[in-house]
Amino acid sequence: MEIFFASSNEHKKKEMQALFPSVNIILPKEIGIDFDPVEDGSSFIENALIKAQALFDIVKLPVLSDDSGLCVKALGWKPGIHTARYGEKEMGRKLTDREKYEYLLSNMKEINDREAYFVSALVLICSPWEKYVVQESCKGEIARKAEGANGFGYDPVFFNSEAGMISALLSEEDKNRFSHRGKAARKMNLIIEEVL
Ligand code: IMP
Repeated sequence: MEIFFASSNEHKKKEMQALFPSVNIILPKEIGIDFDPVEDGSSFIENALIKAQALFDIVKLPVLSDDSGLCVKALGWKPGIHTARYGEKEMGRKLTDREKYEYLLSNMKEINDREAYFVSALVLICSPWEKYVVQESCKGEIARKAEGANGFGYDPVFFNSEAGMISALLSEEDKNRFSHRGKAARKMNLIIEEVL
């Protein structure tokens, strides 16, 4: 069974393929679709729905999407749904993952309350009348310095409380066990088993 994944992020695809072993995950760009929908929703779920619907309208086949982000207490639970572009308005250009987490560390330099959590909203659209939504989170803290080379995005600066370790130091298996996306995927797999 093939499922299109409404993203252009190769790292997320790799994680999703490991999290959904019973299906073959395909990115739109692998079949020549230039996919970059406007994510103008006001929540993770709304943005995941926007991405999934936009791709479903093109391929008319089962589609999965993930919208995720990091919420930091000391920053008023931001960047939240704007995590992917954090710091880019201030810098006036696109930033690499490393520049983004370094910008976060610099904004948190004087802050002792480091509480944060990651969110993952997953949407599955199988047909116009079959749409499924799951949202999960994982709690942690923003580290004082970056560590580790596994994962992607903010993993080097996110201490996952349940795992007791910086995300980028976790094996892929352990990250999936404790991550927001891993938890959401386990629930979505139950739905996939039932409906596909
Ligand atoms: P989006 O879901 O594509 O809008 O992007 C969410 C952004 O949140 C990503 O670009 C990453 O920077 C960050 N992010 C989401 N999940 C993770 C994760 O598991 N580890 C580290 N960063 C993440």
